[in-house]
Amino acid sequence: MALTGLEIYKLLPKTNCKECGFPTCLAFAMKLAQKGTELANCPYVDEEAKAALDAASAPPIRLVAIGGGERRFEVGNETVLFRHEKTFFHPPGLVVRLRDDDPALAEQATRIDAYEVERVGIKIMLDGIAVDNVSGDAATFAKAVATVKGVSALPLVLISDDPAAVEAALAVAGGDRPLICAATTDTWQKMAELAKGAGCPLVIRADDLESLAALAHDVQGLGVEDIVLDPGTRDLAGNLAVFTQLRRLALKKNFRPLGFPIIAFAGAATREEQALLAASAVAKYAGVIVLDELDPSVIYPLMTLRQNVYTDPQKPIQMEPKLYPVGAVTDKSPIFVTTNFSLTYFTVSGEIEASGVPVWLVVADGDGLSVLTSWAAGKFDAEKIAKTVTSYGMADKVSHRKLVLPGYVAALSGEVEEELPGWQVIVGPREAVDIPSFLKTVWKAD
Ligand code: SF4
Repeated sequence: MALTGLEIYKLLPKTNCKECGFPTCLAFAMKLAQKGTELANCPYVDEEAKAALDAASAPPIRLVAIGGGERRFEVGNETVLFRHEKTFFHPPGLVVRLRDDDPALAEQATRIDAYEVERVGIKIMLDGIAVDNVSGDAATFAKAVATVKGVSALPLVLISDDPAAVEAALAVAGGDRPLICAATTDTWQKMAELAKGAGCPLVIRADDLESLAALAHDVQGLGVEDIVLDPGTRDLAGNLAVFTQLRRLALKKNFRPLGFPIIAFAGAATREEQALLAASAVAKYAGVIVLDELDPSVIYPLMTLRQNVYTDPQKPIQMEPKLYPVGAVTDKSPIFVTTNFSLTYFTVSGEIEASGVPVWLVVADGDGLSVLTSWAAGKFDAEKIAKTVTSYGMADKVSHRKLVLPGYVAALSGEVEEELPGWQVIVGPREAVDIPSFLKTVWKAD
């Protein structure tokens, strides 16, 4: 359980030397209890006190790294139930499951490895490959793992209930910290020994939370700290209920035995069910999500959802405010004004590109917010627009004096014309999707 300020104070040197930046040890202790400072800021804490404080200040959900190379990913260490309370930190790893008896294993793994999309200027890829020991044979499993490793450096999840098969697979992939999946009440000792020996994270699976907590305690007793929880649910309602319970127990009750990331299995009879299961797991509260196939119509929306949910709401993904010429612009090209919210920029510039009409895109600093939000927040007003147009030297770049404002801020037209004497403001479309038809039917330079 977390320590109170007074409990922490009892473990401090009580010299009030101020080196931590606080006037007294008590003030430092109170701040530490609120997680507003770090223990390392006091150079005089003795080892015993440090151990006690470290244990108490450990994150309520352990940070677990999966994989060993450049594409390793980390999950856990979340601190809130709801994203708007602060932010979610570690996006769930999206992993595609392959059968160890699949004759096209190498081709499938190559496709998974190469899958990449770009959204709002950010490249997004899959995070791992799960190899499932459906053959039930240790040698086949190890061979499949070797095949996958031969074509991909993605982190692996080794799915097998058979310790002998896991041992054989670890002989091939053990150095890369694959996630072993899973130890059960029958196999936990052997699986924990294997995980400990190879330094790998370990999934533990049980059908009720009490057994899961007991299992976590048991494998920790054998020295395995990097644990991932599988509460055994495989349906939407079950996942939602149990994952939420696990998150609440970890964060609200500080219940350490279940303070670990969760693995979700999104395999389902239909593509739609798989998408639903995985989307629910992205939102609440999986750390690893195992999909049964590489279907871009499911995976791309999931990646979009994950990017949205795991973007800090206080730090939207932004573009640098500047002039972006889209296409081969000339002095006759229209000037569009927008804000520096990445999604807005990429949507608007995408539609301009699709129209085939080159456009000077003036991106003003709207604090990374969309047009309507930044206008409502007073960050995107007539003065800002006029200053931006002037500072980018637009009057020297075009022979006309026309400015296209986003339709959502049509109300600013008059004020912008007052701020920019000699310029005519044209109200553009509200939605980016209408830009091509606007450019064809409304825009005229002369
Ligand atoms: Fe107390 Fe340590 Fe801060 Fe000094 S540095 S005031 S000993 S908490």
